[in-house]
Amino acid sequence: MVEKVTLYRAPTTNADTDAIAEWLDDRVDVSVTVRDRFLLRYRDDNLPTEIAETRVLSPNDPETGNTMMGIVRYEERALEHPERAGGVVYDGLGLQQRLGSRIPDDERGLDHLHIAVLDRVVGTWGSHDGRWHKRVNVLGQPALISVPGLYEAPAKPEAYYKAKQKHALMSNDTPPREVLESTIDGDFLVEDDPRTTETLKGYVLQAFHYIETGEGFCDEPSCRLSNPHRQPGVVKAQLREPEFCAKHAKRYKKTLTTR
Ligand SMILES: [Zn+2]
Repeated sequence: MVEKVTLYRAPTTNADTDAIAEWLDDRVDVSVTVRDRFLLRYRDDNLPTEIAETRVLSPNDPETGNTMMGIVRYEERALEHPERAGGVVYDGLGLQQRLGSRIPDDERGLDHLHIAVLDRVVGTWGSHDGRWHKRVNVLGQPALISVPGLYEAPAKPEAYYKAKQKHALMSNDTPPREVLESTIDGDFLVEDDPRTTETLKGYVLQAFHYIETGEGFCDEPSCRLSNPHRQPGVVKAQLREPEFCAKHAKRYKKTLTTR
């Protein structure tokens, strides 16, 4: 049984981890605390190299890792200046293992769940189709929540890619997001979307639910514990009523106790 949850902030993103923690605290009967960046708190001399070991090299290659000096230097800089990093996908399970080994022994038990909100894109290898899949979260200890993964992992509506392609043919760049949003039917999240915090609440709860019950994602598309592959599904699950399916509403409906 989980007794304690610690969330770690990702201050260079627009995810408000404190607000997510407050939301979680209203729904689960455990103590919820927030700490600063995971990658900063547990940083040591080996961390840049170990992060470099988890780099995905090619979308269709299960091998990861490039620890040449230039890459390790890049990872050092990315730890110092996360706002400048980007464009790299990391093996979520490899990263989870390396980050987990840095949690102090007395906090590593499953009664104390650590949830690292990260400014990195993470993926998992799909052995069924031979390619990497970006993820919004990686469940386990610690659980990883990828803020950029929220924008990149679930597929956007078909029309989005078509509009982007059309615009690129005419002007060789990406159309402004206001243009894309106003011309495309179907809801989706874009980079730094103002709905980021609200959406991620459900992904954080999934991390708790998995450790607490051993259950994976919910099959009910309107439930915050579901894990849709497409953006319109994410909006439906996380931003529209109802918040949960009947079964999970019983467990996680907001408790109206006064504090
Ligand atoms: Zn459910």
